[in-house]
Amino acid sequence: MEHESSQRQLKRINESIVLHAIRQKAPISRAALASYTGLSPQTLTNVVRRFLVDGFLVESGTEESGGRGRSRVRLELYADGAYAIGFCMERDSLSMGLVDLKGRVLDYKCESIEVMESPQQTMKRMTAYASSILQGDGYAPIRSRIIGIGVGTPGPIDYDKGEVVSPPNYEAWARIPIRSFLHEELGCPVVIDNSSTVAAIGEHWAGRWGTDSFLYCYWGMGIGGGLIAADKVYRGQSGNAIELGHIVVESRGRACQCGGQGCLEAYASIPALLREASAYGEFRDFGQLLKAAEPGTVLREILDRAAEYMAQAMVTAINLLDVDFIVLGGDHVHLAAEIFLPVMKRRIAEQPLRAKVAAARVGVSSLKQEAGVIGAASLVFHELLLGQ
Ligand SMILES: [Zn+2]
Repeated sequence: MEHESSQRQLKRINESIVLHAIRQKAPISRAALASYTGLSPQTLTNVVRRFLVDGFLVESGTEESGGRGRSRVRLELYADGAYAIGFCMERDSLSMGLVDLKGRVLDYKCESIEVMESPQQTMKRMTAYASSILQGDGYAPIRSRIIGIGVGTPGPIDYDKGEVVSPPNYEAWARIPIRSFLHEELGCPVVIDNSSTVAAIGEHWAGRWGTDSFLYCYWGMGIGGGLIAADKVYRGQSGNAIELGHIVVESRGRACQCGGQGCLEAYASIPALLREASAYGEFRDFGQLLKAAEPGTVLREILDRAAEYMAQAMVTAINLLDVDFIVLGGDHVHLAAEIFLPVMKRRIAEQPLRAKVAAARVGVSSLKQEAGVIGAASLVFHELLLGQ
């Protein structure tokens, strides 16, 4: 039995390597794939054959092999090969969508959630949406290729049970069996993960950064993170790794909603910045605050300070994880990037220890509003497509 399970594990690893290599380098020939992945021709042939038979890959044109006019067939992911429904739960909204294997969003909907809404009501919205896709006429031709449902929720989570544990400002959701409820109602596989991890997986699947390892930093109403290392998600012991927002940036500093003190989130998240800026004016949202934060003003100083805190936490993470690439993501991050990015890049480059190895790069996600839904669907592809 043990032998069988390690065989299966190896198969899963090889499939993961091939799938991610094709995703990043497509269209790519078998020969180029072999030299890029380092897998033996036999292994590669087996994996590619399985993906072609299952309809996850498609042969797309040819390329010259460089000698005697011979040409090589190139491979790429088949967008229609599999679909997943993604849900991204935030404290004040629920986004829902249908995503294809290439990470393209076919259907998207975002509904705001009232503070008083019960988890049961929210889960009813989820089942109503999924049923409209799974049973309605609109997507009937592709229904059989919808392989599962992915859900991203605020953490911390119990990954094995598919539940939220004790989320700050999200108490009603504690220990609600989200996965088993959706599975029973809808009858298809359901995968749940922390929303920052989900966003990191979405970034890995659809972001096309051309790297197999990076640290993802979510910035917005909260601050979170996810780590992709050699195409694998690092979840930690309890499934709650990379809580970037709770790295301490001020010893015995401001109280954080996690119950701790001096956390990054208490200084650099959108609610923290709006709270600090409220002493100098009324700001409805971060966009309004940014507009008023002209260079030389006290508001700009608040944002500059937040950038320094962000940079400090990223330097800590880089020293700890030895990553050479950070992706900043989140609905509003493109607004904050003009202030955060130069400071983060400068501080990271200044680190004498790292400078001797290689300076880490920082990029800003180009996935917009649908990022959470793409991430939740990618979680399904990541978990269910491989090693079956
Ligand atoms: Zn905290």
